[in-house]
Amino acid sequence: MILVLEPNTRPEGTEYRMLTSQLERLPNVSFRVHREVGSEVTVTEIYLIGNTAALTIEQMQVLPCVAKVVRVSEPYRVLGRHKQGDDRASSFDYNGVHFGQDTLNVFAGLCAVDSRESVEAMMKALRDNGQVCTRMGAYKPRTSPYAFQGFGASCLPYVYELAGKYGIRVISMEVTHESHVDEIREALAATGNPTGVMLQIGTRNTQNFELLKLVGKQQEFPVLIKRGFGITLDESLNAAEYLATEGNRKVVFCLRGMHTNMGDPHRNLVDFAHVPVVKRLTRMPVAIDPSHSVGSRARAPDGLLDVFHVTAQGVIAGANMVLVDFHPDPSRALVDGPQALLVSELPHFLDDVAIAREAYEKRVRRAREASA
Ligand code: PEP
Ligand code: MN
Repeated sequence: MILVLEPNTRPEGTEYRMLTSQLERLPNVSFRVHREVGSEVTVTEIYLIGNTAALTIEQMQVLPCVAKVVRVSEPYRVLGRHKQGDDRASSFDYNGVHFGQDTLNVFAGLCAVDSRESVEAMMKALRDNGQVCTRMGAYKPRTSPYAFQGFGASCLPYVYELAGKYGIRVISMEVTHESHVDEIREALAATGNPTGVMLQIGTRNTQNFELLKLVGKQQEFPVLIKRGFGITLDESLNAAEYLATEGNRKVVFCLRGMHTNMGDPHRNLVDFAHVPVVKRLTRMPVAIDPSHSVGSRARAPDGLLDVFHVTAQGVIAGANMVLVDFHPDPSRALVDGPQALLVSELPHFLDDVAIAREAYEKRVRRAREASA
């Protein structure tokens, strides 16, 4: 059971103390407090654990400071969308960008930072096309230990400076170790915080629980967590819950295709049919990664690249974010060149996304009419 308290409830207030002392007296029930300090409101939620079946919603509703009582019906206690009375937010703001289950943000950018020139060419193209978000990998977990592992901390200063120069507000950047988060924080501070970073947990680390706890403990950076490519959806959603239970609710869940053994034409089996499923089960914005799903520049007879097709499939199903690989010269990319879109294809890609988004919005309006 979750008690959502009145906005801006102060932990030192008398009413709050009365509440906690009453909760302490409940038999076989313990509780955990989560406070999220926002720029305007502070939200406090109290999670009751143990024998809560014996408690009624009415009984808890009248306790001091309680605005709303939510009965937990999903295994994902914090991020889940519970069936009774759960209208908790499904969105957050970070560095001036809004992320939610109703919005769409495109994160086009480099799979891996390979030179200052490609970073600048990419960021300039993004600015020229009205974009404020990007992806830039500095720490690359690779299948082979002999493959390029990313430039790491050494590239961060110029990536952040260029982001500031071109008005980029959020960069999705994978981390695989605690030290990476510290290096990112230090490089941002050293360059005067010209941009923001969304920490990315890659598919190979979806169940790296110690990394999840660590990234979940900090609330400075939002987190994009990839679905594990060889585990169930439930296991991946529980991984996201690790982040949230440690305190970080600014979590985006990213579908990126699944490994199968069926001779697939794509690098991974595209799983974007799960966009509405994740939105139904949880309150997380849902991202799609068409590049790592498809893994090539294969083109259909209708003239569209498979990457465009699967992006449209995710967006028309309501995806909230698109993480996609681009490169100014894919033949020189150090990672995943074969799947990268050309920077010159960015305007066409964005138009195609807009067409699919418009179709999604029309579908939602039509569904509302049908059920009115
Ligand atoms: C990536 O987005 O750069 C990446 C490595 O993706 P994934 O973890 O999904 O393979
Ligand atoms: Mn890649």
